[in-house]
Amino acid sequence: MKKILLFGASGSIGKSTIKLVADNPDLFQIVGMSAHSRMAELVTGLIRLPQTPPILNTQEKSSLQDIKDFIEKCAPDIVLNAVSGFAGLNFSRATIESQIPLALANKESLVAAGDLLIPLAQKNNIPILPVDSEHSAIFQCLANDQIPIKYKPFEKLYLTCSGGPFRDLEDLSSITPAQALKHPNWDMGAKITIDSATLANKCLEFFEAMHLFGAKKDQIEIVIHPQSVVHSMVEFPDGSTLAQLSPPDMTLPIAVALNYPQKNHYKTPRQSFSHLDLSFRVPNKSLFRTLQVLDYCIDRMGSLPIVFNAVNEVAVEAFMKEQITFLDIFNLLEKMVYTSAFEVMESFEQIERIDKQARKDTLKLLNE
Ligand code: NDP
Ligand code: MG
Repeated sequence: MKKILLFGASGSIGKSTIKLVADNPDLFQIVGMSAHSRMAELVTGLIRLPQTPPILNTQEKSSLQDIKDFIEKCAPDIVLNAVSGFAGLNFSRATIESQIPLALANKESLVAAGDLLIPLAQKNNIPILPVDSEHSAIFQCLANDQIPIKYKPFEKLYLTCSGGPFRDLEDLSSITPAQALKHPNWDMGAKITIDSATLANKCLEFFEAMHLFGAKKDQIEIVIHPQSVVHSMVEFPDGSTLAQLSPPDMTLPIAVALNYPQKNHYKTPRQSFSHLDLSFRVPNKSLFRTLQVLDYCIDRMGSLPIVFNAVNEVAVEAFMKEQITFLDIFNLLEKMVYTSAFEVMESFEQIERIDKQARKDTLKLLNE
């Protein structure tokens, strides 16, 4: 029985995790959770759990020390960080510093602070288990099914990408928030759904894969795969390629991360292969200019992914409020990232400062 502390319980990953636990009560138990603005909604959604665990209200308490105190109180076997955005960083840091294994959905933690979090986890011998479906797929192909986790040597990681709702369009100038919020394959939180439409999500995942698997920029390739059944692939030195396939549903990657290295029978959706075409193609970088900004960042790294993420968060929020157009998300990323000063990452305080400054500068540009 794994005791789980679930940060971000009121969100999309949080709800899928609660469902997984309710459906598999002999395997998992939730010993604590957090909510931010949707506390009441979370509590009414807990009917299926045998008992309501302690809940941290992060609108009231969210300092690093508050989070550490809550972790200590709940005494979990594993923490699942399903908070969205840069705000998730403190939850990852507190978990690793508390010496608890981390199941990580909050990719922004690694995008902004992978240079610090990965060495910290390695030094403390704390496993980071990816929940993001692509990284879970790569993890399932690479990991040794033991603790400590060792990865097999690989040549290349293929990061698959649905392409989002606009993958077949030639012109993105009149996209509305309502259109961008309709993902063809996945049901997710609003922010990541918009990121899937701009392909910013794939850029964040590229940074995430570099950190998690120690991959160099030339070892990762993004491929459009509209069916979202192959969740990613790994090419090995002998020339063989392994892939992980399942329906587009987060329950399995969540279960894999929480239960590693055990594998059990989970009540998850199963893939039928009797009538299924799988296709792959290269993304259109001239239309999805996020990918050009990604190329600029991965040649440099350091502080640039923090700026990419901060600008993107501000731009997506402004787009959802209809203050800017869909194409302005690309424009803001280009303007901000291409003029950003490069810094080597040395401390969490420095990361907070760069994030804050990038947000401020983006808001200023927005209001000009
Ligand atoms: P949601 O927006 O649905 O949920 C976000 C969660 O984070 C909510 O519980 C929310 O609380 C909480 N939260 C928001 N702001 C803060 C804050 N400042 N401090 C503390 N908690 C906060 O997001 P998703 O579940 O879609 O995504 C969560 C993470 O998982 C993201 O990093 C995303 O990229 C990643 N991910 C998501 C996938 C998916 O299928 N949804 C797939 C792969 C990765 P409240 O609602 O109470 O305000
Ligand atoms: Mg993903």
